[in-house]
This record gives sequence, structure tokens and C-alpha cells, in this order.
Amino acid sequence: MYLTQPLHKALLEVPERTATIHGERRRSYRDLVSRVSRLAGGLRTLGLDAGDRVAILSLNSDRYMEAIYATFWAGGVINPVNIRWSPKEIIYSLDDCDSTILMVDDTFLPLLEELRQGSRSLKTVIYAGEKAAPAGTHDFETLIADSAPVADAHRHGDDLAAVMYTGGTTGKPKGVMLSHTNLYIDGLGSQAVSGMPYRSVTLHAAPTFHVAGTGLILQATARLNTSVIIPMFEPLAVLRAIQQERILEAFLVPTMIRMVLSHPDFAQYDLSSLKHLLYGASPIDSTLLNRAREALPQARFLQAYGMTELSPTVSILTPDWHTEEGFRSGKMMSAGRPLPMVEMRIVDDNDEPVPAHTRGEIVVRGPVVMQGYWNKPEQTEDALRGGWMHTGDAGYMDEDGFVYVVDRIKDMIVTGGENVYSAEVEEAVLQLPQVAQCAVIGIPDDDWGERVHAAVVLQDGGTLELDELMAHCKTLIANYKIPRSLEVRSELPLSPAGKLLKYKLREEHWGGRERQVS
Ligand code: ATP
Ligand code: MG
Repeated sequence: MYLTQPLHKALLEVPERTATIHGERRRSYRDLVSRVSRLAGGLRTLGLDAGDRVAILSLNSDRYMEAIYATFWAGGVINPVNIRWSPKEIIYSLDDCDSTILMVDDTFLPLLEELRQGSRSLKTVIYAGEKAAPAGTHDFETLIADSAPVADAHRHGDDLAAVMYTGGTTGKPKGVMLSHTNLYIDGLGSQAVSGMPYRSVTLHAAPTFHVAGTGLILQATARLNTSVIIPMFEPLAVLRAIQQERILEAFLVPTMIRMVLSHPDFAQYDLSSLKHLLYGASPIDSTLLNRAREALPQARFLQAYGMTELSPTVSILTPDWHTEEGFRSGKMMSAGRPLPMVEMRIVDDNDEPVPAHTRGEIVVRGPVVMQGYWNKPEQTEDALRGGWMHTGDAGYMDEDGFVYVVDRIKDMIVTGGENVYSAEVEEAVLQLPQVAQCAVIGIPDDDWGERVHAAVVLQDGGTLELDELMAHCKTLIANYKIPRSLEVRSELPLSPAGKLLKYKLREEHWGGRERQVS
């Protein structure tokens, strides 16, 4: 199994089909393969050997996609860089991965000098921007124009394909080693269950550096789709792209869905082409999901659950559960059933499996499990103990094999000896019409150890008092889970992948104090 295979297939089956659309730029699969094979030749001339890492620091673009495939084609390993990292963090990752080549676009060019001076490993810079290449860099287009095409290195199977960093939602991101088989099998499994069509038109709005973004590129190519790429998520850009390019399918994280639906011009756009809306990467509340289903009645909804360490998708909730019946039975709020190549179970603190409906940690085994954390043998051993990937997510399964992700274990609140799952409290709070966004965290409490605390962003003109919040929650959840304090904010901290950074909120309350997490 090798990740460049779809390119060879595309050349046989759909050479003239549009592979990428980025702004005004459109390229066919024939063009894409030609550019990839020449860029791979360029990478080799620049000294890339089999297994070497190529770092990519860029907003989403067609060139990002070409760089990914050219790296594979040349036999290298991609190291996509988190676009929110500070120069220090980028330097850490470059040196940690020993990446000698870096591709950079215009947005991140101002960081280049600092990266060059700070990094030990960085030797060669490829400039993939729109202007003249700065001194000392190799221009992306010139490299393609001047290099002879090379044959595909055909790295495959357990060969390393990517060092992908985790989202950094719970703290410092970890580099995850994924092989060609890991990513290939995951794409196949997702395809088998989602039933998403071939020769579709995909919108790429989530950041490519994140595993969901990279995975979407691999999947779109595997289905010989046309990839419509926008530089970064922005609600208006999404609405425009869907209308203009007649997008058939998109992946958005729940925060992005909320921002698109809330855009004042939402109703003015023709979104009738959008037939498949895949969402995931963080929990969704039923209020938002029902609102999305109403606003996009023509779309089939699919939820994906997964993580970087699992290449990434391990379960999918299919469209047939996004119904009134699915909502009433509670299955619509599950993350669906495990994919064909995924063994999943729920275990207790001693790694013993627990019965249906009992909460524990979700663990996964199968060919989608990462090769390990890059340069972190102890963390790898711990995460993969007993041959199962420990997700750090709390969840349960029902008698029909549906998995319910109830919280990250690190976000679980222990108050007076009781476990409170923050996601469950958020689900209750978000049913208040004046609440637009909510994060529930544990904050220090002398009597209870931790106290349930709600941070909310209100709808324009909305008001909320703690009494009202408590009275509302009392009708939905047990007394000990109800928020005991409230904070109204203008915004909540989000990661570049659109996830709530609860550790940042917690920092404001915990200061330097240690928080006990199981
Ligand atoms: P870090 O590991 O650095 O803290 P992260 O866990 O956010 O960051 P990712 O690998 O991008 O990094 O995210 C995986 C996590 O996202 C899962 O462990 C889970 O907590 C959450 N997640 C993914 N999909 C879903 C989903 N469908 N529903 C609820 N949570 C989800
Ligand atoms: Mg994680």
C-alpha cells in the first residue's frame, strides 16, 4: 500500500479531470502528477533521501497538496507544521524531526530568518509563495520547471509517511509516526462505511497541517475528486466556495459549522450542491446538530471520531442516524460504530473490558494505530500498553456497538468524589437559546476539590445569570453536575483546528496549582 497510488490511478482513469482548484488556479490530474514527479526530482536534487523529513509551514494551498505528494513520491516523510506555533515551537519541531527541508508560503515568510538562525537541522528552504523568491531560497515553481521527473520511490507498507503533530488541545503537541499502511487503510475503511461517492468535489477548509486536513486530501485523491482549497477557514469563504464551485462534500469541525450557520449572509447563498457534510474532531451538541440539519436539509450528515494517533478515523456515525428516530433513540449523539479494520473496546483503570453502557477509557487496536510518538519511547509504550492505543477519551458502548465519547479524561471534573463529564454539562448549557458557546471546566474549590464552572459566550443581546443557568441545568442533569459558577466572555480560546482549549481557561483559575487528573 502506498499513498501515491491514487495519482497513478488518476492518470489512467481521469487525467483531464480537475484535481485542484485554488483561487483562480485549476490543475488537472495530468498536471498534478507531472508537477509532483518533477518536484520530487527537485527534492532529490536538494538532497532528500528515503525517509528524510520535509517540513511544511503554510496555509492551505494546492502547492501544499503537491508538496505532500512530491515528498511521498521522492521517498520522504512529511512533517506538517502547526500554523499557530511560535517560532520557538517550530524550531523545536524542525530539530526534533531533524527536518532538513522546509517549504514556506508568504504568510510565514516573516518567520524565516528566525527559524534559520534557531534551527540546527534546517538546511534548505523552498519558497511556495506568490512573489519573487527571497535570496537563499528555492522557488517552488522554478524547482518544478527545472527538474526532470523521477520515478515514484514506491515507499509503502510500514515505511514512515508522516510525522503529524497532535492538535495540542490538552497541552504540548506530540509528533505521531504514521506509515503508508496506517493512512491508506484508514482511508479505505472510512470510504467503505461513509459511502461517499467517487469523482466528487471536496472543500478543504480545515487546516492541512492537522491530521483531519491531511487525511481529507488523501481521501479526496483516492476517490479521484476535485479538491477545492481555501487558504484557511473563514465562514464567508466557505459559503462562497460552496456556491461557486458547486461543492458536493465538506469536512468541518463543529465550531466551523456554528460559524457558517451564524453568518449574517448564510441565507443568501445557494448551498444546494452540498450533499455530504462530514464533521468531527471535537464533540458536537445536539442543539447545533439539529440546527445544521434544518439549515442544510439536502445534506447527508456524517460524524467521524478519531485522533492523530489513529490515522485518524476509527468510527463513523452514518447519515441514516441523523434523523428524528436517531435523535429520539440517542444514537444521533453517538460517534457511530467502529470502522471495519478497527477493534474498539472500553476498559477500566486496570485495562479490563467493561460491560455495555459502563463508562471507561476508549482503546483501539488494528492497522490504523500509529507506529509510535516520535522520539518519545516512554510515552509510546504507555499509550500502546497491552497492544491497544489508549485514547485518553472517556466513553461507553451500547448493546448495538455504538460508541459514545463522553469527554476527554483530562477534562473530566472530579467534584466531591463524583465524576462530571464536561461535555455532558456543556450539552445542557447549550440548550439555553441565549448561549452561543460554552466550555465547562473544573476550577479549584476548597470543599469539593473541584467545582463545576461554566464559561459562556452569549448570543448578541443575550443575558444570563448564574441562578437562571442553575435552574435550567437542574431540569436536565443531576444536581452535582450543575455549574456552581459562571463567567460570561466575549470569546473562548480555540486551537487552529477549531477545538476548545480548556487548559487555557483552566490556567486562569488554577494559576500554578497542580490539578489531579486520573
Ligand atoms: P492533543 O492530543 O495534543 O491534546 P488533540 O487530542 O485535540 O490534541 P487530535 O488528535 O487532533 O489532537 O484530536 C483527537 C481528539 O479529538 C480525540 O481524542 C477526542 O478527544 C476528540 N475528538 C475527535 N473526534 C471526536 C468526536 N467525533 N467527538 C468527540 N470528540 C472527538
Ligand atoms: Mg490527543
